[in-house]
Amino acid sequence: MSQTLTENQTSAATTTTVEHWIDGASASGASDRTGPVYNPAQGVETKRVRFASTEDVDLAVQAAARAFPAWRDTSIAKRQQVMFRFRELLNARSGELADILTSEHGKVTSDAAGEIARGLEVVELACAMPGYTKGEYSENVSTGIDVYTTRQPVGVVGIISPFNFPAMVPLWFFPLAIATGNTVVLKPSEKDPSASVWLAKLMQEAGLPDGVLNVVHGDKVAVDALLHHPTVRSISFVGSTPIAQYIYSTATANGKRVQALGGAKNHMLVLPDADLDLAADAAVNAGFGSAGERCMAISAVVAVDSVADELVDKIAERMSRLTTGDGTRGCDMGPLITREHRDKVAGYLDVAASDGATVVVDGRDPEVDGEPDGFWLGPTLVDKVPTSSAVYRDEIFGPVLSIVRVDGYEDGLDLINSSRYGNGTAIFTNDGGAARRFQREVTVGMVGINVPIPVPVAYHSFGGWKDSLFGDAKAYGPRGFDFFTQEKAITSRWLDPSHGGLNLGFPQHD
Ligand code: NAD
Repeated sequence: MSQTLTENQTSAATTTTVEHWIDGASASGASDRTGPVYNPAQGVETKRVRFASTEDVDLAVQAAARAFPAWRDTSIAKRQQVMFRFRELLNARSGELADILTSEHGKVTSDAAGEIARGLEVVELACAMPGYTKGEYSENVSTGIDVYTTRQPVGVVGIISPFNFPAMVPLWFFPLAIATGNTVVLKPSEKDPSASVWLAKLMQEAGLPDGVLNVVHGDKVAVDALLHHPTVRSISFVGSTPIAQYIYSTATANGKRVQALGGAKNHMLVLPDADLDLAADAAVNAGFGSAGERCMAISAVVAVDSVADELVDKIAERMSRLTTGDGTRGCDMGPLITREHRDKVAGYLDVAASDGATVVVDGRDPEVDGEPDGFWLGPTLVDKVPTSSAVYRDEIFGPVLSIVRVDGYEDGLDLINSSRYGNGTAIFTNDGGAARRFQREVTVGMVGINVPIPVPVAYHSFGGWKDSLFGDAKAYGPRGFDFFTQEKAITSRWLDPSHGGLNLGFPQHD
């Protein structure tokens, strides 16, 4: 590391601390624990972030609890006005947010813009909240008696998000939670925490009352404080499978409703009749976008043997044109989130070699348009990966694309269905019958047909099956509105003088 970088690292580390956002203001909290935030393309620590204590989390929960009654009772029209203003502000100032994402996560500017666009979709869905939460009405179920259901907010809700989409994942949840009248405590990833605070400040600018959206930073201490806090009524979690499982079991044991989205290992099945150029483009985009740090990334291309050689050549040729470097310099792919993660991902190449796979493109020593100390790993392709290898089984979460060869459709389907994960999958084929069979038979929550990353639009819900989702509550879309509201059924009878007045007996079915 150069002398200049060392000086930058020291001075930057002592100047900026990312604070909590509690009750509409910056808050340091009582804990003096902090963690590092890096610029992954420079490989230097640029900020520190507060790590909340249990007491700090309690302050945020109390602020949310105080804000709840007034926000719940704020008319739908006024809540919507806040969401519409937020949507306008976010649209107008998305460049600022993109810069934050690139500087703390490392993703290239175009990936940052894409992340914000997908988050904005959910804000727009939140603006359409009244249409999703209208309730139901049955008139005259018995003489003079009506039954209707309303949907009401659940109260203070907790959101815990991962590092890989520091803006989009919070946006999957808090706009719907707030539009439906809840108040929020958000605990973003400690690795790239600034986007959440920026979003909370923008909500305040949009007219959100103080205390409705709070942000606390930290690690397991902060998460556990939310999971055990009696005032927190629900938990929305996105992250790795072991933590999702822990969140689900702990929060449900504490009586909370939980949506816990976990890790993934997404397969793309390529049949012999597929358009191989389309499939190769898709594999490269879906494998290496955001440096493979996406829960919907394709990490295993399942190629039918008869076309596998040709497909591998096409993928390798496209990879040779990808540029890796600083996300602000127009490159295709940025760095990984931390040095430890980069080293862990790179370590899978040794495993690949010892397990008998063929490393076709080795990204360990990439040509980089950026600082030498960045957390770099170039696009990597491994062919003939045995399904017993950890390279196939583990969620690597980096720019490593595996090719697994199969005999045909049945073999490929069995492989995908035997995975513990079931987040996303794709089939590439020109056979409509095969595609239709696949969509019916595959045990995965989100399926693409000639579409490699089938992230549903905001008005369809997002979530996987098996170890990719604990519980049954998907994110956003109709299921998101369900999650953030509780249904109340009302049976009602009113005095009707023309029928001789109010009868207080039990309803008769006549
Ligand atoms: P992670 O599980 O390490 O962290 C997620 C959150 O949990 C963070 O806020 C973190 O502070 C907290 N956390 C970490 N360890 C904890 C512990 N021991 N106890 C309590 N809380 C803890 O995940 P990550 O590395 O930030 O994100 C990457 C993972 O998220 C990948 O597995 C990816 O597939 C997954 N992910 C899934 C989806 C989805 O929709 N299914 C979307 C994005 C990311």
